[in-house]
Amino acid sequence: MKLLKNRRNIIIIIAIIVIVAVSTFAFLNSRQEINKISYIEFKEQLEKGNIESVNLTNDAELLGTLKSGEMFITDNPRAEGFKERLLSSGVDVGETDGRSTIEDILTMVVVLSAFVGLFYFVSKNSNKLAQKEMTQMSDIDSNGENTSTVVFDDVAGNDEVKECLKEMVDFIREPEKYERYGARMPRGVLLYGPPGTGKTLLAKALAGEAKVPFYAVTGSDFIQVYAGLGASRIRSLFKKARAAGKCVIFIDEIDALGKKRRGGASNGSSDESDRTLNALLTEMSGFKENQGIIVVAATNRIDTLDEALLRPGRFDRQLEVGLPDINARYKILELHSKNKPISKQVDLRKVAYQTVYFSGAKLESLMNESAMLAARYNDSSINMSHIDKAFYTVIAGEEKKDRSYISIEEKKVTAYHEAGHALVTKLTSPLNRVTKISIIPSTKGAGGFSMNIPPDKLYQSKEDILNNIMVALGGRAAEEIIFGKDRVTTGALNDLQKATDMIVSMIARYGMDDSTGLLNFEVLLGDSIGSNSYIIDRARKLIEELYIKTLDLIKENIDKLESIVERLLINETMDEEELNNIISSVA
Ligand code: ADP
Ligand code: ZN
Repeated sequence: MKLLKNRRNIIIIIAIIVIVAVSTFAFLNSRQEINKISYIEFKEQLEKGNIESVNLTNDAELLGTLKSGEMFITDNPRAEGFKERLLSSGVDVGETDGRSTIEDILTMVVVLSAFVGLFYFVSKNSNKLAQKEMTQMSDIDSNGENTSTVVFDDVAGNDEVKECLKEMVDFIREPEKYERYGARMPRGVLLYGPPGTGKTLLAKALAGEAKVPFYAVTGSDFIQVYAGLGASRIRSLFKKARAAGKCVIFIDEIDALGKKRRGGASNGSSDESDRTLNALLTEMSGFKENQGIIVVAATNRIDTLDEALLRPGRFDRQLEVGLPDINARYKILELHSKNKPISKQVDLRKVAYQTVYFSGAKLESLMNESAMLAARYNDSSINMSHIDKAFYTVIAGEEKKDRSYISIEEKKVTAYHEAGHALVTKLTSPLNRVTKISIIPSTKGAGGFSMNIPPDKLYQSKEDILNNIMVALGGRAAEEIIFGKDRVTTGALNDLQKATDMIVSMIARYGMDDSTGLLNFEVLLGDSIGSNSYIIDRARKLIEELYIKTLDLIKENIDKLESIVERLLINETMDEEELNNIISSVA
């Protein structure tokens, strides 16, 4: 686009030069027609009545026209009564100020430039918007490339994501190697998770470790763009990247240009983002497979993304970048204290403990605020009182209540809830794997989550379904046992949806309930199974029984529940090994 703009300028400049040259030539040429005549000759012509007009000035020479149309110059007598004599001889007398040839040329140039300037202004103005967009774009084009100096050691926590990206460093460095083995290099990686968790940092680290250029753009930049510019901008970005050879392209806020497309009528702006999205998809499938270019995109909301973006050959690797747990928070705090004078009395572990739900960016700003306070008071080092004050500055505006109290209380509820799920899983279905328990909210669930992966099976037995329902109810059951019936939370919303779905399917689809029999109610009632009062009554009775069974199971193993919670409150996350140890060690 920049090139296009330059070409236009060149055309305009050439046009100006041609116009000026031609008119100057014509002007000078016409000037050569003017004869200088002597005053005597002038008088003769005047007497013969051959003079048409005279331009009378105070100059040394005067300009006139003969009746024949010829122009002439003669000496100006500047005599009294000259004008009267001319007039009485029937000569047209003009009295404009005379100009020298040079002055004339100068005037002409000024007029011409004014004209050209006007022309240029008008043409520029009509494209003002486009010009503006183009300037913004050339900003991106020229500043987009960076040689990143960030490395993986600058990113704390997020170990799984780092592990996966480390593999990619090798892909970028030696694509030939992977080509020899016939391996297909991934083209796109999607990082998703809450803001400030280090997605940009990770992308930069990928480029930094691979020692390749880093091109960064933001999805929203492509959106309010003049028709067609978003798409062409994508194309020029990829063109630059391809020219650079190996590189990392980072697209932040990809949801802005890759929102789920609405079917049917669409308005102009979404047309525009469609075009931009299509250009991106085309470019991504366009580059050769083992070229060493990786596109990393980031979003806070994977749920709103157009599925087209997630298909193979596009952003087919999706990595969650979650909020840091207590250990990751400690590492992040350590990292951002490195270049700061921290008092020995400061216990960063304690700070990590107090900063539940803080993102990496918030922790960074916590340490930064503390340093600013220490500097303002001219204290020799950053101490706990600075950090405490900074804590409230960082969370200010988020919640008026005492946030540290709230989060510790919330943490406790979440811990019991998640421990309930995990415990019931291990007790009812020992073959099911619990990969991770966490009390840090993820983008998938409001509270923490515990992954419950059933072993690969072709069919589910009635027993499996009953166990799964109990696992789903385990969170709510643990909350009720510890905090009482009136203090249970909305955290069980998803669990209850799942449990309801399972129990209705069991009764009405799979023919697994004796009193309902082998009928498939879907065949009989279609979509209205859920509003059939017989099925509702039956489901409510069964789920009630299962809930009581779950409550009893947890009560019998309350010591195990407490051990899991105790560990969760300290570490915030727990892996399967630790969970198995607790389940088997407490008698
Ligand atoms: P995102 O792209 O996920 O919104 P950023 O990568 O822009 O987040 O993070 C903003 C800043 O917060 C980073 O520059 C860094 O200083 C700090 N930060 C965030 N996460 C981490 C982390 N895991 N380790 C170290 N610093 C972090
Ligand atoms: Zn739950």
